[in-house]
Amino acid sequence: MSVIQNCIEIHNQFAKCTPLSNTLGDGFMYQTSPIFKRVRDLLTAQNYTFKNELCEETNEFFLTQLFQLDKIYFEKKLFARHNYQALMKIALKFPDKDITLPEITTLECYSALLHESVHCLCQQYFGWASLDVKNQPDPEKFFQELITAESMAISTEFLACIPYSNTAERSLAYMNSLGYINAEDELSFKQFQKLFGFETAVDWLFRGYFASNYFYEAVALPPGVAKTFRNKELAQDPRYAALTEAVMNIGFRVNKPFRQHTAQTFFKLVGVEGGLKNAMTFDIYKTLQDGSYVMKAAKEIFSQYLKTEEESYAKGS
Ligand SMILES: [Zn+2]
Repeated sequence: MSVIQNCIEIHNQFAKCTPLSNTLGDGFMYQTSPIFKRVRDLLTAQNYTFKNELCEETNEFFLTQLFQLDKIYFEKKLFARHNYQALMKIALKFPDKDITLPEITTLECYSALLHESVHCLCQQYFGWASLDVKNQPDPEKFFQELITAESMAISTEFLACIPYSNTAERSLAYMNSLGYINAEDELSFKQFQKLFGFETAVDWLFRGYFASNYFYEAVALPPGVAKTFRNKELAQDPRYAALTEAVMNIGFRVNKPFRQHTAQTFFKLVGVEGGLKNAMTFDIYKTLQDGSYVMKAAKEIFSQYLKTEEESYAKGS
């Protein structure tokens, strides 16, 4: 059986676990990933609706997604990909080829529901009533919150994928997240987690994503940045410093077109004039240290849904 056929089989097995049976792997993720389930349950409890019918509204949303985020945030309506049937046809068309989902996955095909759901949780937490900088009492704080939200969303996607080691299961997790995890990054994260525990690992993973959103033109953590952020415990041993830097660098794997174009277009839409680089005047070093406002916010938002069994994340290690 090919990987994609195996995925379809797993999907069918869990299809009834959520109402979104047309979204590949949604039921599977809900049933087997505590972080996925927690995020979904929180939004359902807050009366968000989840749409994945093929209709004009859904079509329009996906064609102009970046320009319709107010629908998600303020109408509490989330849109899911209707991707199951299309992928099933591919599986039937190439029965003898061992096609894996990452090989056919494109940004157009994957379900961004988990990612967008985390944005919603952040929006609730920060209490934005509008996505326009002009309506924000403190624009500088708002920029930091937006970067926090983006970093939280991507960190969560990483965390949702990491427990799956089986190829078909990992493929389904990838179909519900943005991008892939390379073996080196996976190892760094798991080593760090073994040494310092899950919460600390998540904390540094988040900082890496925050740094990558801030240094959006850089391909890796700028030299010296990791050292500046090292806490006392990690600074005592140079081996840990290298590992910390490796975990933070996971954030820089987010694809460049997304960081440099999509995210920047979004910032333009919310009213950032003259580019994000000029708008951000906050002290990144200070912000990334424990006492800052966003780090506290991130910890609180994460703690709302990361207080699940640590073992379930450790099982793949
Ligand atoms: Zn995002």
